[in-house]
Amino acid sequence: MAITVHQSFSFTKRTTLRMGGTALAEIVFTHADDCAQLPDILDSIGGKPLVIGRGSNLLAKDGELPFVILNPAVTTDPVCVDETDETVTVHVGAGYRLPRFLHWCAANGYAGLEGLAGVPGTVGGAVAMNAGSYGCEIVDCLDSVEVFIKNVGTAVFKKTDVVLQYRHFSIPTVNDQPVILSSSFRLYKTDSQKVKKVIDDNLTRKKATQPVAAHSAGCVFKNPAEGVSAGKLLDQCGFKGKIHGGVAFSPLHANFLINVNNGTSKEAFELLQMAQKTVLDASGYSLELEVKVIG
Ligand SMILES: Cc1cc2nc3c(=O)[nH]c(=O)nc-3n(C[C@H](O)[C@H](O)[C@H](O)COP(=O)(O)OP(=O)(O)OC[C@H]3O[C@@H](n4cnc5c(N)ncnc54)[C@H](O)[C@@H]3O)c2cc1C
Repeated sequence: MAITVHQSFSFTKRTTLRMGGTALAEIVFTHADDCAQLPDILDSIGGKPLVIGRGSNLLAKDGELPFVILNPAVTTDPVCVDETDETVTVHVGAGYRLPRFLHWCAANGYAGLEGLAGVPGTVGGAVAMNAGSYGCEIVDCLDSVEVFIKNVGTAVFKKTDVVLQYRHFSIPTVNDQPVILSSSFRLYKTDSQKVKKVIDDNLTRKKATQPVAAHSAGCVFKNPAEGVSAGKLLDQCGFKGKIHGGVAFSPLHANFLINVNNGTSKEAFELLQMAQKTVLDASGYSLELEVKVIG
C-alpha cells in the first residue's frame, strides 16, 4: 500500500498530446485498499478529482486548472481466475499498460483483444473509454470491473450492470466518476502464435496509416454516424496536414490532431473549431470530440 501526492501536476508532461496547463496535485496510489484514504486527502487539497491513466486520450486546457488528479497505479499482474474448456477469465490491475496486457495474452494464447493492438494507455483507461479498434471493443470481452466510488467504497460490477457504449463507460445511479481499480476479461483459448500474428498484423497496419510516433491523443473526433468516417470528412474538407501554430491534423490520418511544435491548447481548440464548422457547412455532420477535454 502506498499513496504519493505530487503538488502541481503538468498536463504537458503527463499527456501524450504534450500540451495543457497544470492541475493542483496528483495523487498516485498503488493498491485498492489505499482508496479509503482518498476522501480525506482530497478534502485537504481541495479541487475537483479527475482520474487519469496514461493520458493518451486527453486534451487539457492551458493555464492553472482546478483539478486533483487521481492516478490508480494498481498494476496487479494478469492472472487467470476461472476457466472452461474454451475460455479463461483473466483479472488485471487498472494501471497495467494495455499493450503489455496484449503481449501477455499473446504469450498465453488468449484471444479476444487483438484488435486493440496499438492503443496506448492503461487497462483502466481502455475500460473507461470502452476503447475500440478494428471491430473489437472492450465491451466484447469485459467480464467485470472493480471500482471505488466516493460514499460507497469498493465494489465489483458485472458487465451487465454497467453501461458500455461507443467510447463511454458509466454505472447507473452513480454520479461521481468511478475509479476503476481492476477488471476481468473473458478470453478464448487458442494458439499463441495465432494471437501474436493478428497483433503484429494490426500493428503493421496502424503504423502504415496512423502517426503512431507523433504526439497525439489518437482520433480527436468520434465518427458522426455508423459507417461515416470523421477522418474522411476532414480530408474532404482539406484538413489533412493542415497546420495551425504548433498543432496540425496529421498528413497521414486527418482525424489525428498532433502537436508538431510546442502547440498550445488554445491553438488546438482554434483548429478543431475551424474543422467542425467547415465539416458542418459542407456535409451537415456535427463532429463531436472523442478526446476528453480537461478544463
Ligand atoms: C497513437 C494513439 C492511438 C490510439 N488509438 C486508439 C484506438 O484505436 N481506439 C481507441 O479507442 N482509442 C485510441 N487511442 C486513445 C487512447 O489511447 C484510449 O482511449 C485509451 O484507452 C486511453 O487510456 P489512458 O489510460 O491513456 O486513459 P486517459 O487518457 O488517462 O483517460 C481517458 C479517460 O478515461 C478516464 N480514466 C482513465 N483511467 C481511469 C480509471 N482507472 N478509472 C476511471 N476512469 C479512468 C479518464 O478520466 C478520462 O476520462 C489512441 C491514442 C493514441 C495516442
